[in-house]
Amino acid sequence: IAEMDRGGMQDRVDGIAHRARSRLGTGKLADYIPALADQDPNRFGIAVCTNDGRVYAAGDAQEVFSIQSISKVFLLALALRACGGELWSRVGLNPSGMPFNSLSQLEAEQGKPRNPFINAGAIVVADHLVSAFATPAQHIQDVARRLSGNPSILIDRRVLESEWQHRSRNAATAYLMKSFGNIANEVDDVLYAYFACCSLGMSCVDLARALNFLASAGYARCADEQFVTPALARKINSILFTCGMYDAAGDFAYRVGLPAKSGVGGGIVAVVPGKLSVCVWSPLLDASGNSVAAQYALELLSNELASNGTTPA
Ligand code: GLN
Repeated sequence: IAEMDRGGMQDRVDGIAHRARSRLGTGKLADYIPALADQDPNRFGIAVCTNDGRVYAAGDAQEVFSIQSISKVFLLALALRACGGELWSRVGLNPSGMPFNSLSQLEAEQGKPRNPFINAGAIVVADHLVSAFATPAQHIQDVARRLSGNPSILIDRRVLESEWQHRSRNAATAYLMKSFGNIANEVDDVLYAYFACCSLGMSCVDLARALNFLASAGYARCADEQFVTPALARKINSILFTCGMYDAAGDFAYRVGLPAKSGVGGGIVAVVPGKLSVCVWSPLLDASGNSVAAQYALELLSNELASNGTTPA
C-alpha cells in the first residue's frame, strides 16, 4: 500500500463499488428471522482500513447492518484471550463442509463442533464467555465500540428479539451439545449471549476498523492496544481462511485468497495481513449464506492488489 498513493486507493475502492453494483439483484435475503427479511436488497457498501489507520469508503459504507456471524470473530478472539488454547478440547479446527447451522455432524462427533465459525462452534465459544464474564453481551458490545472507535454501536433489540423467537434450531444445537457435556452454563444464558452478539449493528467502516487488528499483528489502532498477540492474530487468520466462509471456504479461498468471515446480514470482513482490513456489505446471499456482491467486490480487490504487487495473504 505504501507505494500506492492515497488517491489511488480511493479510486480503486470507488471503481470496485461501481463494478460490484452489476451483481446487485442476484441472490436472496436471509429469511430465517423476519427482522432480516425486510432489508433493502440493493444496498452496497465497502470500507478499506489500511494499517496506518486510514479508511477508504464507498457506497453505503456508513449504513448500520446486522453483523450476524461476523461476531463469531469477536467471540473467538475474546475466548482465546480469556481461556487460551483450552478451548480446542471442546471445538475443532477444521472446515465442516456443511451448512453453518447443520446438526448432523454433532451427533456423530459427540457434541464437539468442527470449528468456531459455524453456529455450534460459536455457541460453545459463547458458553466460555458466559463462564468468564458477568455480562458477556455487554462486554462484546464494549469491545466492538473500543476496537472501532465508535461509542454509539448497539445491539439491535429488534433483531435480538427476532432471533430469540425463532431460536429452535440454535436451541436444539445447544441442547444436543449440552447432552454431551459440552455446554457448562444454562442453555438460555448461552443462547442469549450468542444472539446478542449476532445482533450487533455495525457499518462497513466500523467493522473494517474493528477487525484491523488481524491485519496489524494483533494491534488495534483505534483502541491503541495490543488486542491479541501477533501469534494469535496469525492463528485466527488461519481459521478464517479455512472456515470463515462456511461450506464455501474452499471456493472463496480459490477466488479471493484472503482470510474472511461472512454473516447472513450480508457483510463480509477480509484481511490482507500486514496491509489492510476490508468490510463489504450487500444483503443478497448465495446458497451458502455469503453475500453475492460482497464476494465479487473482494475478488476484484484481491485481483487489484495482486496486480499492484501487494500480494494478498
Ligand atoms: N444468527 C444467525 C444464526 O444463528 C447467524 C448465522 C450466520 O450469520 N451465518 O443462524
